[in-house]
Amino acid sequence: MPAVTVDDVTVLEKIPAPGPESRPRRVRTLTTAPSGFEGEGFPVHRAFAGVPLGALDPFVHMDQMGEVDYGPGEPKGTAWHPHRGFETVTYIIDGVFEHNDSAGGGGVITNGDTQWMTAGAGILHIERPPEALVQSGGLFHGIQLWVNLPSARKWVDPRYQDIGRDHVMLLSSPDGGALVRVIAGDVAGHPGPGVTHTPITMLHATLAPGARLELPWDPGSNALVYGLAGRGRVGGDMVSLDAGQLAVLGPGDTVVAESLTTQESRAPNLDLLILGGRPIGEPVAHYGPFVMNTREELAQAFEDFQKGRMGTIPAAHMKG
Ligand code: MN
Repeated sequence: MPAVTVDDVTVLEKIPAPGPESRPRRVRTLTTAPSGFEGEGFPVHRAFAGVPLGALDPFVHMDQMGEVDYGPGEPKGTAWHPHRGFETVTYIIDGVFEHNDSAGGGGVITNGDTQWMTAGAGILHIERPPEALVQSGGLFHGIQLWVNLPSARKWVDPRYQDIGRDHVMLLSSPDGGALVRVIAGDVAGHPGPGVTHTPITMLHATLAPGARLELPWDPGSNALVYGLAGRGRVGGDMVSLDAGQLAVLGPGDTVVAESLTTQESRAPNLDLLILGGRPIGEPVAHYGPFVMNTREELAQAFEDFQKGRMGTIPAAHMKG
């Protein structure tokens, strides 16, 4: 799992151990992500399937893309499609993904890079492996997360951020057993690079076998822990968590996780995606690529898309 890593975690800033009065969050629900296909047919795990939106708020949807080892000619992406009312966050752990949008945003992301697209009032985009990767095949593994926008911000102008892996904040547990990559938000006063409309924390942690991670966590935010690879235990009640499982944690002020001392050889560490955000607390009307507050706004979104009011495919990308 390339992502961003370091040869010597002991040189990193350390996350202070929580005090004795800390209240570790316990596991409220544990779900296993079903498999599916997205876009033109790339394999995903629907990380949030079966979890009520109220427990996810301000998050709406998350796909673990892959992990898949493509043969030549097999890599797939999406066609051009619209979004309105939220932000898409694409984090690539292994492989390469290319993005272009109708607002002029675009870029190529690879091992440990993130693309943060605020759809806001409306945008069209396409996400796909570059042609060279389609020809060669290869490993592909990433995350796409949908972060909701409050009603007052659903109509903001689209925005595109490329967050290179060199800008990710790297921290370690006190004994160096866990590496934490802060992509957005803040851990123990160390901010990540993502600029978010909705206050959230997004991090990718790698725990060596037998390592323990204790993170201070905003009591006003929710806490979601998703297993990317490996085997471990999470929460104050140390519930078993495998790859492809999501733990929704209850109230408290720390998030704790441990890696089992014995791991399978193909996934030697425990890799976790850990998310938190302040709930928006508004009604959510979600259908297809749109996340609004009411059914009327969803109908409006479909009409606006059909009439070309969410932008048009840039001429440079039109196939002749
Ligand atoms: Mn999309």
